[in-house]
Amino acid sequence: MAHLSWPAYAERIANGAVVLIPVGALEQHGRHLPLGVDFMLAEAVALATAEHVDAVVAPPFVYGYKSQLRTGGGPQFAGTVGLDGHSLSSAITDVLRGLARGGADKLAIVDGHYENQMFLTEACDLAIREFRQSGRDGVKIVQARYFEQFDEAILKRHVGGPPLDLAYEHAGVFETSLFLHLFGDLVDMDAAPEQAFKEFPSYDCHPPHDDWVPATGALSDPHRATAALGREIFDACVQGMVRILETEFGPEGDGSN
Ligand code: ZN
Ligand code: MN
Repeated sequence: MAHLSWPAYAERIANGAVVLIPVGALEQHGRHLPLGVDFMLAEAVALATAEHVDAVVAPPFVYGYKSQLRTGGGPQFAGTVGLDGHSLSSAITDVLRGLARGGADKLAIVDGHYENQMFLTEACDLAIREFRQSGRDGVKIVQARYFEQFDEAILKRHVGGPPLDLAYEHAGVFETSLFLHLFGDLVDMDAAPEQAFKEFPSYDCHPPHDDWVPATGALSDPHRATAALGREIFDACVQGMVRILETEFGPEGDGSN
């Protein structure tokens, strides 16, 4: 989208293209991965998805909801910058409103950050309510987390035991493998942590116990990550996104569903 002139964009929309909106976070991912992991992976999945369906990819929304201790390590690391929940949801509602005003009625959010989910749901809900009240009944918004669009059997087949818990996969085998596949130059496996699988208590505390989090910021051991696993996960996530868009917007992007 950022590379299109407005008339070229308007023509794509008029011809039925879906607008994909990658949403991520600026968040530490251990010493071995960069701060942009969540929005970079969401954007990469969206761009690859757009090669298989009629879709335009909006620039990624790079800031997400605040990193949580048990899912992202928390906000105490340099470079982790999160939005308050209402800031995220109202900013995303603004983006959806602006895209719809410009004629887009097929919208899809590709989420790459665990903590975003309910604030994106809020944004979509408020946007749809507003569209209905203003007579834009035809606008549909798909909301998907790219990292749920693959079969976990892939992980077990490549990595074997002990089983991986995706809840602790922050900067672990999953994201590190995707990065080795897509952005290998940005991975420093020499800095990857040697640490046991991280178990957290089953509750949160406010203010948080920062000392629950490993000093590196990674929540599990990424050493079993490989580019081959990353390629298989990536392809599966892209195929999953393609299936979702075909189901919701029709195989030819004709909106018949
Ligand atoms: Zn992440
Ligand atoms: Mn994250």
